[in-house]
Amino acid sequence: MPLKVYNSLTRRKEAFVHPLEEDVKMFVCGPTVYDYVHLGHARTYLAFDTIVRYLKFCGYKIRYLMNITDVAERVVQRATQAKRNPFELAHEYEAAFLEDMRSLGMNQVTRFERASDSIPKMIDQVSGLIRKGFGYETETGVYFEVQRYPKFGQLSGLGREELSLRRLELCSSKRNPEDFSLWRKYDTGLAWDSPWARGRPGWHIEDTAVSMAEFGDTYDIHGGASELIFPHHEAEIAQAESLTGKAPFVRYWFHTGLLNIGGRKMSKSLGNVIRIRDALKQSTPAELRFYFASTHYREPMVYSQAGLERSKQRLAKIKGHFSDFLNAMPANEKGKPTARLLVYDAAFKRQMDDDFYTPGALKVIEDFAKDLSKSAPKLNAQSRAELEVRFRRLADLLAILS
Ligand SMILES: [Zn+2]
Repeated sequence: MPLKVYNSLTRRKEAFVHPLEEDVKMFVCGPTVYDYVHLGHARTYLAFDTIVRYLKFCGYKIRYLMNITDVAERVVQRATQAKRNPFELAHEYEAAFLEDMRSLGMNQVTRFERASDSIPKMIDQVSGLIRKGFGYETETGVYFEVQRYPKFGQLSGLGREELSLRRLELCSSKRNPEDFSLWRKYDTGLAWDSPWARGRPGWHIEDTAVSMAEFGDTYDIHGGASELIFPHHEAEIAQAESLTGKAPFVRYWFHTGLLNIGGRKMSKSLGNVIRIRDALKQSTPAELRFYFASTHYREPMVYSQAGLERSKQRLAKIKGHFSDFLNAMPANEKGKPTARLLVYDAAFKRQMDDDFYTPGALKVIEDFAKDLSKSAPKLNAQSRAELEVRFRRLADLLAILS
């Protein structure tokens, strides 16, 4: 069975079609570095880490690009409060983010790119959009005129009326309430010279410029948290397609579900976050990965201490079965595996081929471990060595053994 993926753009599961010999180009929205990252971020980045691991397992070559949003209003606000240089502050949190990623074993990103290193590319794109009649300048900045791009709303499924109600960036100088900024004029905080006035790029153009500089006009996968669909990803598509005239900008859009805690979204602004580094004081990286993998990446997930504990117990049992298997005395030469022991790989693949269905894949690993411990005394040394490799291959893909 071929790999099927849910594409937010078409709102259905479809076959993942890509030649094995060409790189899969994948971009995921990285963090805005003004504070420590928390478990809500971990959930999203772990999901994409697993997706990349599985695509590689299927034989694909991946170029995985992640941007670092070090140019943002929130960075400036935080630095002003702390009386700090905004760049120093951003790059301190960037280092903390990279450290947290490493601690969780998230090691699949090919390249990180800071927004601040791509300002000239952003200015080029904004100039291009003005030249083509999609962007206009006012006294506060440069804006994208949404009416000029009739497909706006395709990703979020929002209609014209709903879009006009969702007022983006309140500003009296815009032509229409739904227009969004490409460049904001500021002469304090983080600011660069531009053909308009000193200022900084809009958030959406940062990601279009970073990803297109690396991948060209169109690419394969764009990922992020589902809360980024509107307006962020919608705006990215509008900018890119207006600029290049090529569609689709990105072939597959993947979005992760929210992480809730105590009935609300885990978010910095609600003050209910658990930092990754604090979570790692109570749990191992493997335990956290197991916990997140036990809910499908697109589903909303409720974080609870009880849920995490149950998940730790499940993992401990799996590891117990596997170590029983490793420690059992081998049987005589005749002890070959039963046919049943050889179907777990295929069962695991079936689960993962269904839009990276990790809860099903964990269940297969669980059954495999149980079966291994039960069968161990009947297996000869060579069969056991082979089965150990098979089991580790699946468990290591989800990084749950260490
Ligand atoms: Zn983004």
